[in-house]
Amino acid sequence: MGRSILIVEDEKEIRDLLAHYLRREGFSPTVAPDGETGWEKARTEKPELILLDILLPGMDGLELLRKIRTAPATSRIPVVMLTAKGDETDRIVGLELGADDYIPKPFSPREVVARIKAVIRRTVPAPGEAEKEEYVYGDLRMDVPRHEVLLRGKPVPLTPKEFRILQALLSSAGRVLSRETILARVWGEGTHVTDRTVDVHIAKIRQKIPFLADAIRTVKDVGYQIPER
Ligand code: CA
Repeated sequence: MGRSILIVEDEKEIRDLLAHYLRREGFSPTVAPDGETGWEKARTEKPELILLDILLPGMDGLELLRKIRTAPATSRIPVVMLTAKGDETDRIVGLELGADDYIPKPFSPREVVARIKAVIRRTVPAPGEAEKEEYVYGDLRMDVPRHEVLLRGKPVPLTPKEFRILQALLSSAGRVLSRETILARVWGEGTHVTDRTVDVHIAKIRQKIPFLADAIRTVKDVGYQIPER
Protein backbone atom coordinates (compact mmCIF):
# COMPACT_ATOMS: atom_id res chain seq x y z
CA MET A 1 0.00 0.00 0.00
CA GLY A 2 1.23 3.48 -0.83
CA ARG A 3 1.89 6.30 1.58
CA SER A 4 -1.34 7.68 3.01
CA ILE A 5 -2.18 11.29 2.26
CA LEU A 6 -5.08 13.04 3.97
CA ILE A 7 -6.81 15.64 1.78
CA VAL A 8 -8.84 18.20 3.74
CA GLU A 9 -10.81 20.18 1.18
CA ASP A 10 -14.47 21.19 1.11
CA GLU A 11 -14.77 21.49 -2.67
CA LYS A 12 -15.67 18.03 -3.90
CA GLU A 13 -14.30 18.53 -7.41
CA ILE A 14 -10.85 19.53 -6.17
CA ARG A 15 -10.88 16.78 -3.56
CA ASP A 16 -11.73 14.11 -6.13
CA LEU A 17 -9.22 15.44 -8.63
CA LEU A 18 -6.39 15.41 -6.09
CA ALA A 19 -7.35 11.95 -4.83
CA HIS A 20 -7.40 10.67 -8.39
CA TYR A 21 -3.92 12.00 -9.21
CA LEU A 22 -2.44 10.82 -5.94
CA ARG A 23 -3.83 7.33 -6.42
CA ARG A 24 -2.37 7.24 -9.91
CA GLU A 25 1.03 8.09 -8.40
CA GLY A 26 0.82 5.17 -5.99
CA PHE A 27 -0.35 7.06 -2.88
CA SER A 28 -3.30 6.04 -0.72
CA PRO A 29 -5.43 9.18 -0.41
CA THR A 30 -8.11 9.60 2.23
CA VAL A 31 -10.42 12.62 2.25
CA ALA A 32 -12.18 14.96 4.67
CA PRO A 33 -14.73 17.61 3.60
CA ASP A 34 -14.28 19.86 6.65
CA GLY A 35 -11.88 20.72 9.46
CA GLU A 36 -13.58 18.62 12.14
CA THR A 37 -13.47 15.45 10.04
CA GLY A 38 -9.91 16.34 9.05
CA TRP A 39 -8.87 16.60 12.70
CA GLU A 40 -10.54 13.28 13.49
CA LYS A 41 -8.77 11.52 10.62
CA ALA A 42 -5.42 13.17 11.33
CA ARG A 43 -5.54 11.92 14.93
CA THR A 44 -6.80 8.42 14.27
CA GLU A 45 -5.24 7.57 10.92
CA LYS A 46 -1.96 9.46 11.36
CA PRO A 47 -1.39 9.97 7.62
CA GLU A 48 2.12 10.48 6.28
CA LEU A 49 1.21 13.91 4.95
CA ILE A 50 -1.78 16.24 5.12
CA LEU A 51 -2.92 18.40 2.23
CA LEU A 52 -4.89 21.16 3.88
CA ASP A 53 -7.13 23.79 2.34
CA ILE A 54 -7.27 27.06 4.30
CA LEU A 55 -10.84 28.10 3.51
CA LEU A 56 -13.07 25.48 5.08
CA PRO A 57 -16.51 25.69 6.67
CA GLY A 58 -16.40 25.53 10.47
CA MET A 59 -12.87 25.00 11.71
CA ASP A 60 -10.66 26.57 9.05
CA GLY A 61 -7.34 25.25 7.78
CA LEU A 62 -5.18 27.49 9.94
CA GLU A 63 -7.05 26.50 13.08
CA LEU A 64 -6.69 22.85 12.16
CA LEU A 65 -2.99 23.34 11.43
CA ARG A 66 -2.54 24.83 14.88
CA LYS A 67 -4.21 21.79 16.44
CA ILE A 68 -2.13 19.39 14.35
CA ARG A 69 1.09 21.12 15.37
CA THR A 70 0.30 21.24 19.09
CA ALA A 71 -0.95 17.66 19.60
CA PRO A 72 1.95 15.28 20.23
CA ALA A 73 0.23 12.55 18.17
CA THR A 74 0.17 14.70 15.03
CA SER A 75 2.81 17.40 15.53
CA ARG A 76 5.35 15.74 13.24
CA ILE A 77 3.05 15.05 10.30
CA PRO A 78 4.09 17.22 7.33
CA VAL A 79 1.39 19.63 6.17
CA VAL A 80 1.08 21.27 2.75
CA MET A 81 -1.41 24.14 2.67
CA LEU A 82 -3.64 25.06 -0.25
CA THR A 83 -4.12 28.83 -0.27
CA ALA A 84 -6.28 31.25 -2.20
CA LYS A 85 -4.28 32.99 -4.89
CA GLY A 86 -2.43 36.06 -3.67
CA ASP A 87 -3.43 35.70 -0.06
CA GLU A 88 -0.07 36.59 1.44
CA THR A 89 -1.31 36.77 5.03
CA ASP A 90 -2.68 33.21 5.04
CA ARG A 91 0.54 31.97 3.50
CA ILE A 92 2.74 33.67 6.11
CA VAL A 93 0.55 32.61 9.03
CA GLY A 94 0.52 29.06 7.69
CA LEU A 95 4.30 28.89 7.48
CA GLU A 96 4.65 30.46 10.91
CA LEU A 97 2.31 27.85 12.34
CA GLY A 98 4.53 25.16 10.91
CA ALA A 99 3.20 24.30 7.45
CA ASP A 100 5.91 22.60 5.38
CA ASP A 101 4.89 24.13 2.08
CA TYR A 102 1.98 25.94 0.47
CA ILE A 103 0.45 25.81 -2.96
CA PRO A 104 -1.55 28.77 -4.28
CA LYS A 105 -4.83 28.06 -6.04
CA PRO A 106 -5.46 27.48 -8.87
CA PHE A 107 -2.88 24.73 -9.18
CA SER A 108 -2.18 21.85 -11.50
CA PRO A 109 -2.56 18.41 -9.88
CA ARG A 110 0.87 17.52 -11.24
CA GLU A 111 2.42 20.39 -9.34
CA VAL A 112 0.70 19.28 -6.15
CA VAL A 113 2.02 15.74 -6.56
CA ALA A 114 5.55 17.04 -7.21
CA ARG A 115 5.44 19.24 -4.10
CA ILE A 116 4.11 16.40 -1.97
CA LYS A 117 6.93 14.14 -3.11
CA ALA A 118 9.49 16.86 -2.32
CA VAL A 119 8.10 17.42 1.19
CA ILE A 120 8.01 13.69 1.89
CA ARG A 121 11.62 13.31 0.76
CA ARG A 122 12.58 16.13 3.08
CA THR A 123 10.62 15.21 6.17
CA VAL A 124 9.55 11.59 6.36
CA PRO A 125 12.17 9.08 7.50
CA ALA A 126 12.55 6.02 5.30
CA PRO A 127 10.29 3.12 6.30
CA GLY A 128 11.71 1.26 9.28
CA GLU A 129 13.91 4.16 10.31
CA ALA A 130 13.31 4.89 13.97
CA GLU A 131 12.99 8.33 15.48
CA LYS A 132 16.38 9.99 15.49
CA GLU A 133 18.56 9.08 18.44
CA GLU A 134 21.29 11.55 17.72
CA TYR A 135 21.47 15.11 16.47
CA VAL A 136 24.68 16.76 15.38
CA TYR A 137 24.63 20.51 15.03
CA GLY A 138 28.05 22.03 14.40
CA ASP A 139 30.16 21.22 17.45
CA LEU A 140 27.11 20.08 19.35
CA ARG A 141 26.03 16.46 19.66
CA MET A 142 22.81 15.35 21.29
CA ASP A 143 22.51 11.72 22.35
CA VAL A 144 18.79 11.22 22.95
CA PRO A 145 18.73 7.80 24.69
CA ARG A 146 21.53 8.84 27.03
CA HIS A 147 19.98 12.24 27.62
CA GLU A 148 23.32 13.84 26.99
CA VAL A 149 24.42 16.96 25.17
CA LEU A 150 28.07 17.35 24.32
CA LEU A 151 29.73 20.52 23.11
CA ARG A 152 33.10 19.69 21.53
CA GLY A 153 33.01 16.49 23.55
CA LYS A 154 32.23 18.16 26.88
CA PRO A 155 28.89 17.49 28.57
CA VAL A 156 26.53 20.46 28.87
CA PRO A 157 24.34 20.33 32.01
CA LEU A 158 20.81 20.83 30.67
CA THR A 159 17.69 20.28 32.75
CA PRO A 160 15.22 17.73 31.32
CA LYS A 161 12.96 20.55 30.05
CA GLU A 162 15.85 22.38 28.42
CA PHE A 163 16.95 19.10 26.85
CA ARG A 164 13.51 18.46 25.38
CA ILE A 165 13.15 22.00 24.07
CA LEU A 166 16.51 21.71 22.33
CA GLN A 167 15.51 18.31 20.97
CA ALA A 168 12.26 19.81 19.61
CA LEU A 169 14.21 22.61 17.89
CA LEU A 170 16.82 20.27 16.42
CA SER A 171 14.26 17.75 15.20
CA SER A 172 12.41 20.56 13.42
CA ALA A 173 15.48 22.43 12.19
CA GLY A 174 14.51 24.98 9.57
CA ARG A 175 10.94 25.17 10.80
CA VAL A 176 9.50 27.80 13.12
CA LEU A 177 8.16 26.31 16.34
CA SER A 178 5.53 28.41 18.05
CA ARG A 179 5.64 28.74 21.83
CA GLU A 180 2.37 26.78 21.88
CA THR A 181 3.96 23.89 20.00
CA ILE A 182 6.97 23.87 22.29
CA LEU A 183 4.70 23.88 25.33
CA ALA A 184 2.63 21.01 23.96
CA ARG A 185 5.68 18.92 23.03
CA VAL A 186 7.63 19.49 26.22
CA TRP A 187 4.99 20.00 28.88
CA GLY A 188 2.11 18.16 27.20
CA GLU A 189 -1.28 19.41 26.12
CA GLY A 190 -3.50 21.39 28.45
CA THR A 191 -0.59 22.61 30.51
CA HIS A 192 -1.06 25.66 32.71
CA VAL A 193 2.47 26.81 32.11
CA THR A 194 2.59 30.13 30.24
CA ASP A 195 4.39 31.10 27.03
CA ARG A 196 6.82 33.13 29.11
CA THR A 197 8.19 29.88 30.57
CA VAL A 198 9.39 28.87 27.11
CA ASP A 199 11.28 32.18 26.80
CA VAL A 200 12.93 31.65 30.16
CA HIS A 201 14.09 28.14 29.21
CA ILE A 202 15.36 29.31 25.83
CA ALA A 203 17.35 32.04 27.58
CA LYS A 204 18.91 29.39 29.81
CA ILE A 205 19.84 27.21 26.83
CA ARG A 206 21.44 30.21 25.11
CA GLN A 207 23.37 30.95 28.29
CA LYS A 208 24.62 27.40 28.75
CA ILE A 209 25.49 26.93 25.06
CA PRO A 210 26.72 30.32 23.81
CA PHE A 211 27.30 28.77 20.40
CA LEU A 212 23.49 28.48 20.10
CA ALA A 213 22.75 32.01 21.35
CA ASP A 214 22.59 33.34 17.79
CA ALA A 215 21.67 30.10 16.08
CA ILE A 216 18.37 29.92 17.94
CA ARG A 217 16.42 32.62 16.21
CA THR A 218 13.55 34.45 17.89
CA VAL A 219 10.67 34.81 15.46
CA LYS A 220 8.74 37.85 16.58
CA ASP A 221 5.27 37.12 18.01
CA VAL A 222 5.55 33.46 17.05
CA GLY A 223 8.31 31.43 18.60
CA TYR A 224 11.73 30.06 17.82
CA GLN A 225 13.66 28.46 15.00
CA ILE A 226 17.02 26.86 14.55
CA PRO A 227 18.21 27.00 10.93
CA GLU A 228 19.11 23.84 9.02
CA ARG A 229 22.82 23.21 8.69
CA1 CA B 1 -12.12 25.67 0.37
